[in-house]
Amino acid sequence: MKKISILGATGSIGQNTLDLISSEKDSFKVVGLTGSGNIDLLAQNAIDFGADIVATADESKFYDLKNLLSGHNIIVCAGPSGILEVSNQQTDWVMSAIVGSAGLLPGLSALEAGANVALANKESMVAAGPIMKRLSEINGVKLIPVDSEHSAIAQVIRGEERETLSKIIITASGGAFRNFSKSELVNVTPDQASTHPNWDMGQRITIDSASLFNKALEVIEAKEFFNLSVSEIEVVIHPESLVHAIACFHDGGMKAHLSPADMKHAIAYALHEEERLKLSLDEINLADVGALHFEAPDLDKYPALKLGYEVVEHGGLAGAAFNAAKEEALDSFINYKLSFLGMADVVRATLDELNSKNELEKVVEIERIMELDLLARSIAKKYVEKN
Ligand code: NAD
Ligand code: MG
Repeated sequence: MKKISILGATGSIGQNTLDLISSEKDSFKVVGLTGSGNIDLLAQNAIDFGADIVATADESKFYDLKNLLSGHNIIVCAGPSGILEVSNQQTDWVMSAIVGSAGLLPGLSALEAGANVALANKESMVAAGPIMKRLSEINGVKLIPVDSEHSAIAQVIRGEERETLSKIIITASGGAFRNFSKSELVNVTPDQASTHPNWDMGQRITIDSASLFNKALEVIEAKEFFNLSVSEIEVVIHPESLVHAIACFHDGGMKAHLSPADMKHAIAYALHEEERLKLSLDEINLADVGALHFEAPDLDKYPALKLGYEVVEHGGLAGAAFNAAKEEALDSFINYKLSFLGMADVVRATLDELNSKNELEKVVEIERIMELDLLARSIAKKYVEKN
């Protein structure tokens, strides 16, 4: 039986992972689960899946969680150290699906503890890609992409020589405001930005999909996972969200990966460590779909995407600063302190200020990432107030 833990078990990716496991319960032993606010779900999942240890990120919920699990032989922890207690357990496989930079240290500790890590938490690759990769190499464990585009890239380049690859195209649905003009974006609300035409995801990534900040993170993530340069990563808007990535080769040939807009496909591929098993997941009926559409993104409407390319170009700590500033801007938008378009302005101003102060070094070290994360957030906050 494969021993596994799920970090961020109560979220959208976490629940999809548990769903997949529930149909193969004899193959997996759930060691640890983590969550945050939703402790009823966390406790129920821990009981149903026979977990040994659970942690909530929310320290104030420790006793409530303990009460929910009284009478069960399950260790209960809380706070960031409690999450690390779970990620440090000896397992074979860990799903890293906490949202935001809070997922970084748990993901690193899972690699250090010797687990193969399925990485949904793109923020950790954006902030600390070189460290993640180094730890996976040192510990001889796999780091497997879960983001649908990156899972698709891994699938289309499998068996191909790196030298024959000319570029990778990843797709973007265009999110909630695909058909809005830039002027129509001025007054959009968090509620409007929180619905996605194709994917069912957590609120933060859904809003990031509408602004294309998510795609910017994914461009950086693609660079880190697959050692690509700016000119080797292209983004196209693809409203159907069925093609996730395309590899383009020097001979003019292209290989595309298609699957339904359901994260279970990418999660299952990571869960089985890139082995293709017979699964009862939906398939695409191409005749029903009829047509697939592609168009170039408008960088004026989506300034976040332009920023993402600049971060790839700069390299080093720019990814960590970009992610932290983006998280602060997103919080401010969700709390009605910043407009939708203001998010990219705040992130740009923050990166410019950090760059002018030579804070965005090329060498990525964890202590500097943590320092810079705080600094970028405080600078971003200042620009939110000015905005
Ligand atoms: P979500 O909001 O649905 O779930 C987030 C999980 O993280 C929950 O379990 C929550 O309790 C936990 N969490 C929140 N704050 C925390 C903190 N401070 N410390 C510890 N745990 C905390 O998010 P999601 O949509 O499942 O996304 C999870 C990650 O996967 C994100 O990095 C996202 O970008 C990535 N991702 C998601 C999808 C998707 O379809 N949802 C697709 C690709 C990538
Ligand atoms: Mg994605």
